[in-house]
Amino acid sequence: MSDRFDVAVIGGGILGTAVSARLSRTTASVVLLEEAEDLAEGSSKGNAGIVCSYYSAPETLEGQLVSRSYRVYEDLCRRLDVPYRRCGSLTLAMDRDQAATLPALLAPITAAGVAAEIISGDDARQIEPLVSDEATAALYQPDEAIVDPMRLTVAFAELAARNGAQIRRSAAVTGATRMADGEFRIHTEQEDIRARFVVNAAGMAAGQVSALFGGDSYDLRPRQGQYWVLDREFGRTVKSVVVTVPQPDSRGIQLVPTTNRSALLGPDSRDTTDPYDRSTAPDVLEAVFATAQRMIPSVRRQDAIKSYAANRIVGQDGVRLRLDAQQPGLLHVGNRSTGVTTSPATAEDVLSLLRQAGLVAPDRPGSVTELPKTRRLLFDESPETLVRADPRYAQVVCVCEQVTAAEIDAAFRSAVPPVSLEGVRKRTRATYGRCQGAFCSAGVSFMCALNNGYRPDKIRQGSGGATLGVGRE
Ligand SMILES: Cc1cc2nc3c(=O)[nH]c(=O)nc-3n(C[C@H](O)[C@H](O)[C@H](O)COP(=O)(O)OP(=O)(O)OC[C@H]3O[C@@H](n4cnc5c(N)ncnc54)[C@H](O)[C@@H]3O)c2cc1C
Repeated sequence: MSDRFDVAVIGGGILGTAVSARLSRTTASVVLLEEAEDLAEGSSKGNAGIVCSYYSAPETLEGQLVSRSYRVYEDLCRRLDVPYRRCGSLTLAMDRDQAATLPALLAPITAAGVAAEIISGDDARQIEPLVSDEATAALYQPDEAIVDPMRLTVAFAELAARNGAQIRRSAAVTGATRMADGEFRIHTEQEDIRARFVVNAAGMAAGQVSALFGGDSYDLRPRQGQYWVLDREFGRTVKSVVVTVPQPDSRGIQLVPTTNRSALLGPDSRDTTDPYDRSTAPDVLEAVFATAQRMIPSVRRQDAIKSYAANRIVGQDGVRLRLDAQQPGLLHVGNRSTGVTTSPATAEDVLSLLRQAGLVAPDRPGSVTELPKTRRLLFDESPETLVRADPRYAQVVCVCEQVTAAEIDAAFRSAVPPVSLEGVRKRTRATYGRCQGAFCSAGVSFMCALNNGYRPDKIRQGSGGATLGVGRE
């Protein structure tokens, strides 16, 4: 393996992988270094996957990134075989006071040229029959969309790998030295590599990574959000994102359908100190549930199959996208609230900034822009033809999420294959359903063993913070 690259990208979240994918379509040689044993282990793992049609005013950097990204998102997801759905959103007013706040929410959205309108409670119930009779009015944004954020993160990395970028996992960057020729020597736990340009996409650790390079200092802190995951039995009845009017400390509690027809309920918003704390608190989750039940009375506790917490990365700015003021060739990229939405345009801008900084890397004709499509049993309109084409589609390994042996095999044949049960889950959703792996972990482990020649008893769960990986003997 080469140890010399034009660009090293540090961090395998949605932004680091999006940047790697974009750079890989140029003549630049690229390596992505991720400290965890798999991609999407930071904020890119626990977010809601909403692709915003509007987030902030068009004159802000975030507003521009949102609007430019939104325009290309559907096509991007089609090319990368990532589930995406335009589902719309309803911001509900539950009384007259809340209804009075809607015009102020509407004005900047329509001023930006994004579709939105205020509708009556009855019209809101036409769009989303689950909405409470109490709702008096709603702000309707028909273009809000949802994506599978972990699949997109992995897909960006796969595209990068297919274009020749090296994706190195279990590669924590631990130090850096500037060489006499201006290149960086980057130290990881296993090896040293050299790169002329470095993209710091290390999420919550971006401040520490910048310090390793002698770059700008900035403080980042976690702002936790807790979610319930609701079973597909309920989730498949949810048509739109439904959200309360903004709260003093958050943009509101949301019911979000997922692309797999489960649903998320949350998040709260509270500043914490430990960026790796993913524990949940019963009182917080109870409060989320009570708020949601007022909007959607049919949501029941027995629909909940899991709870979790994720950490937003809070700094001075919502968006970090700039060259370092002190270290030529070092670039910082990060995002608090819209990293999933803005990833396509952010990656374009990173490339432009690197070119301004001296990277000579024209686009490479013939680079790969699409990933092979994997047919999936769930939602397939013609399961019989699937099974006729490949009998492994008849072997349903994860019953809750309808994931078959054929789909798990395809994940192992991909350019960035899983290395743990959690990795299979991110790529296929096996073990994500109501049983949370109680029934199917053994089958998925067996598939891992078949695909990689590992002993089934050596295959580990793998999860954020925990030791990941598959032991080989
Ligand atoms: C509760 C919540 C809900 C959200 N909802 C949405 C939403 O609906 N829509 C939306 O667009 N956005 C949403 N977001 C925001 C979005 O999730 C983030 O903006 C995005 O995930 C940030 O991605 P990232 O790649 O910058 O960071 P991360 O995903 O955190 O990636 C950083 C990576 O760097 C790695 N790393 C750290 N240090 C090192 C090192 N020394 N060496 C190598 N690797 C290192 C980490 O392991 C990690 O994998 C939400 C966020 C949260 C928390």
